[in-house]
Amino acid sequence: MTQRIAVVTGAARGIGAEVAARLAADGNAVAVVDLDEAASKEVADRINGSGGWAIGIGADVSDEEQVTAAVTRVAEELGAPTILVNNAGIIRDNLLFKMTVADWDAVMGVHLRGAFLMSREVQKYQTKEGWGRIVNLSSTSALGNRGQANYAAAKAGMQGFTKTLALELGRFGVTANAVAPGFIATEMTAATAERIGVSFEDFKEASAAEIPVRRVGVPADIANAVSFFAGEGAGFVSGQVLYVAGGPKA
Ligand code: NAD
Repeated sequence: MTQRIAVVTGAARGIGAEVAARLAADGNAVAVVDLDEAASKEVADRINGSGGWAIGIGADVSDEEQVTAAVTRVAEELGAPTILVNNAGIIRDNLLFKMTVADWDAVMGVHLRGAFLMSREVQKYQTKEGWGRIVNLSSTSALGNRGQANYAAAKAGMQGFTKTLALELGRFGVTANAVAPGFIATEMTAATAERIGVSFEDFKEASAAEIPVRRVGVPADIANAVSFFAGEGAGFVSGQVLYVAGGPKA
């Protein structure tokens, strides 16, 4: 089997860290890219310690120069990257009337500009290799979520971006799909609980009661879906949005 080179952004913790570990366990070499370089290296060390092959790279995905430098480093140290998971994300929640321009721009910058810059850079290698997988993290918030005008717009934007990449890159053997998680227990959802003033345990319990499978998600639920889209077998699946939310979403 060919060993592929995967890049996972925002992989220093949460969903990204789990995705990186899973793609490594699937047999890929993995670049763990995150703002937090020290934590990226720890995730890479853990992967290397369990028999995988990974490197940690510090980069801000919304910064063009840093993205170019990071992807060049991946190509030099691991080989041509052909799997890209655009997972880096932030929330800056507020009701519209209280949302600042900085809150709006920060969220657009990481999710949309970040996914655009990373994809534009990595597709150079994918189209040359004639094979590639792009997996973008959307969210159930794309369907609308109170207090998240910026995040909902960005996550809906990720879906349009994904479908367009599927149309443009398909002829080069590159697929693009989106995974749209529901509630996943990570530092991001813990921060939401803190903002609304409830304990994380109570927040998870209340959320689970509203989810058909009666539990909140864990990062491995998302890593499983990403692993499918990133794999050899998914070559005829492109431009799709998979809600991984413990129940139907549309
Ligand atoms: P998290 O906050 O635990 O981790 C996000 C990571 O992204 C952090 O390590 C952070 O340092 C990194 N990051 C932030 N800005 C960055 C930048 N500019 N450049 C590089 N790295 C950056 O979040 P998570 O819960 O693991 O979420 C991962 C992805 O899944 C995000 O895109 C998020 O929007 C999406 N998502 C999460 C949930 C959920 O319930 N947790 C639900 C739907 C979608």
